[in-house]
Amino acid sequence: MSNSFLKSPLPINEPVKSYGPNTPERAAVTAAYDAFFSKKIHIPMKIGGEEVSSTEANTMHPPHDHKHSMGTYSLASEAHVEQAIAAAIEARKTWALIPFAARAAVFLKAADLIAGPYRAIINAATMMAQSKTVHQAEIDASCEFIDFLRFNVRFAEEIYQDQPTSSGGVWNHVHYRPLEGFIYAVSPFNFTAIAGNLSAAPALMGNTIVWKPSDHQMFSAKIIMDVFEEAGLPKGVINMINGDPEMVTNTVLKSPDFAGIHFTGSTHVFKNIWHKIGSNIHRYKTYPRIVGETGGKDYIAVHNSANAEEVATAVVRGAFEYQGQKCSAASRIYLPKSTSKAILDKVAADVKTITLGSPRELKNFMTAVINKGSFDRLASAIDQAKKDSDVEILLGGTYDNSKGYFIDPTVLVTTNPTYDTMERELFGPIVTIYVYEDDQWEETLKLVDSTSEYALTGAVMAKDRLVIEKARLALENSAGNFYINDKPSGAVVGQQPFGGARASGTNDKAGSRQNLLRWVSPQLVKETLNPPTDYRYPYMDA
Ligand code: NAD
Repeated sequence: MSNSFLKSPLPINEPVKSYGPNTPERAAVTAAYDAFFSKKIHIPMKIGGEEVSSTEANTMHPPHDHKHSMGTYSLASEAHVEQAIAAAIEARKTWALIPFAARAAVFLKAADLIAGPYRAIINAATMMAQSKTVHQAEIDASCEFIDFLRFNVRFAEEIYQDQPTSSGGVWNHVHYRPLEGFIYAVSPFNFTAIAGNLSAAPALMGNTIVWKPSDHQMFSAKIIMDVFEEAGLPKGVINMINGDPEMVTNTVLKSPDFAGIHFTGSTHVFKNIWHKIGSNIHRYKTYPRIVGETGGKDYIAVHNSANAEEVATAVVRGAFEYQGQKCSAASRIYLPKSTSKAILDKVAADVKTITLGSPRELKNFMTAVINKGSFDRLASAIDQAKKDSDVEILLGGTYDNSKGYFIDPTVLVTTNPTYDTMERELFGPIVTIYVYEDDQWEETLKLVDSTSEYALTGAVMAKDRLVIEKARLALENSAGNFYINDKPSGAVVGQQPFGGARASGTNDKAGSRQNLLRWVSPQLVKETLNPPTDYRYPYMDA
């Protein structure tokens, strides 16, 4: 038993490695990639610390080389989901009671494992199975994941230290209890770090988890479980269930012990889950916490005082990094007529130098989109643009799925500010430009605010400070993360806590104290040190 108040190590953002020629990290990551590529693996479920395989399995293929098989992963039945729930409830009995420092040590060690021996492995898995370039894998699977794990320990410590004042004869304290029941974590394909954090954040606060990863992130999901196990996570604290998302979700949401969901993914899936939770509300022992970060239609609003080269770079990086498959990717751009030509000329010059291909070829800036469904959706948006009279394809507009799901970086220019691709989240390397008359800036800001249902990220680019301040006010509700003179993506844990409002989510800011507060249920304890012995008050004396 420890009577000490422990202080966690000061978190510092994990430095991003360069992977330049002849660096040790480049040699390590390419060797790990080649080793994965030359073998097939099977990924079982993980229930109560045991590997569980089923008779049903899906195959896995790299999106940039879809005929190549990486192996298989087991699919859950309803009984497996029920076993995972039971394992989480059993594990909670001890995990919720051990000191915070013991839980924190597991996740701090996990961070160190990723920073060290697992770095090349988790990056290579993310490159191969989610088609990220080495830089995109490094900033996600290594740096962001490490930052989530380390910073969350510090944020949790601050929460536990936050205690009420006490007056004479009274001692008040707050116990930040984990939620009563288990947490359901549902993660998207596009960030290995998010997949890990959706379970790790509530687990750090003493909760136990049933985790359903995306079918398109299974390979790095397995590495995440390996890291947690090696870091000493007790059996049953995080249980990984793979399989049919509807069946898994319906089974989880039937449980009276369901205490909360930590979701990241698309808006329609989240709304559907929220609806099901509402329908099941009479089953639950406690009101479930619902935390979800969802889609975006992220904008850059450019004033005519902005620097053309800076704008062009923000557009190219913001729209095309990771093939536009970031929830924060810039996908609708508003350009003033007077500088639009200079900006678009620079965008065109840059886009022409972009190469697409396998992430194993480190020269590539872009690789494939995640799967056939995504490829078909993007190809169909391009085909529709070829037919529509109010839009033209300025750059790209070509695609090829013979080897991998490749969509060339595509720039559309529309005369219709509510054209389909100005409103709909496409989640791919297609950006749409609307050119406005310079004297219509204020009207354009109203358009930016009202065009889409989302409010995730947005950027304003301008030199004039009054313009920036007025734009910030006009766009106050249009983005949970607002950028000035930058692309609207690339949030760093501890610096830019991330989340959006409106249809983009509950804005509980991943990688912040605010998020961790959703995973505790405070109990206030008032202790009277010298209890009264007479019910009468002095004012009652004659
Ligand atoms: P998705 O909604 O298809 O899948 C997300 C998760 O939900 C997966 O685990 C999936 O299996 C599960 N799922 C799918 N259908 C389901 C159903 N009917 N019932 C229950 N679960 C179901 O999303 P995706 O394609 O993996 O990820 C892309 C989406 O995620 C985009 O909309 C993107 O904007 C969003 N996203 C948002 C953030 C953010 O922080 N706001 C971050 C990353 C991704």
